[in-house]
Amino acid sequence: MQIKTVGVVGAGQMGHGIAQVFAQSGYEVRMSDVSQEALDKAMDLVDKHLARQVDKGRLEEADKRAAFERIHPTTTLSEIGATDLVIEAATERETVKQAIFEDLLPHLKPDTILTSNTSSISITRLASRTDRPERFMGFHFMNPVPVMQLVELIRGIATDEATYRLMLEVVESLGKTAASAEDFPGFIVNRILMPMINEAVYTLYEGVGSVESIDRSMRLGANHPMGPLQLADFIGLDTCLAIMNVLHDGLADTKYRPCPLLTKYVEAGWYGRKAGRGFYDYSGETPVPTR
Ligand code: NAD
Repeated sequence: MQIKTVGVVGAGQMGHGIAQVFAQSGYEVRMSDVSQEALDKAMDLVDKHLARQVDKGRLEEADKRAAFERIHPTTTLSEIGATDLVIEAATERETVKQAIFEDLLPHLKPDTILTSNTSSISITRLASRTDRPERFMGFHFMNPVPVMQLVELIRGIATDEATYRLMLEVVESLGKTAASAEDFPGFIVNRILMPMINEAVYTLYEGVGSVESIDRSMRLGANHPMGPLQLADFIGLDTCLAIMNVLHDGLADTKYRPCPLLTKYVEAGWYGRKAGRGFYDYSGETPVPTR
């Protein structure tokens, strides 16, 4: 089987980046979202990112136009069905993802491969609710998708070898590198990264350091390119909280309990960069720490 057409569900931070890298690698892409506003913003961002590559001399104007024209936005989920590969990249909530796959089922081709970009939800459980658990995988891109080299490939308990091999080829065709992970909460990257971010929020909550001193400590003291609170804002605090809850519930260990301050920020709607406010305020020219 050859993958030629790709359906991306969810046009948020991850969805638009996934659509862009597939389109730039020659795939025909359909991208859906429940929100027309999210789709408009996604297409605008893809256009801007491609234009930046042209300005830097890394992309020809004609290739930019061709890539952009390969992305077809839609608010009708069923239009995603007749593709070779579906990548679900909607909000990190199991009920949302389950409903998407259920709604998609009647419109799929018999051999369509289903994948989810979930950061932490069980691939085996999502797969079991579909008619093709053997052709279902975790396809975990990192943010920002066009920049980050890694794709985590997660096999559910029922995923067959042919599907896994085909997805390895797809990752290679995008010029990216795969790492394989077993289907346990948080897989590899978030099992390690998210408890560190959560601990940084505890450090803030307990008054051990300010936002600035925590981020500076990890940037200059541990050589991280971004501080953990800056990174949390970048990922989205709602996504961070959702992942901590999956680790906490799935591994049943109190060491994964989400920090109450993280919960409070999410309750306030301060989701980070995408909301204009999180551990930093993004309304001005430069981000200003909020604590
Ligand atoms: P986001 O909030 O930026 O975007 C989610 C999008 O999904 C929104 O545009 C929303 O309108 C849309 N959506 C919600 N319900 C939908 C439905 N029923 N049908 C179609 N679209 C729907 O979130 P994001 O950061 O892009 O995260 C998306 C997924 O990617 C999550 O599973 C997340 O865990 C995962 N992920 C996120 C990151 C990150 O750093 N943000 C990294 C890797 C993976």
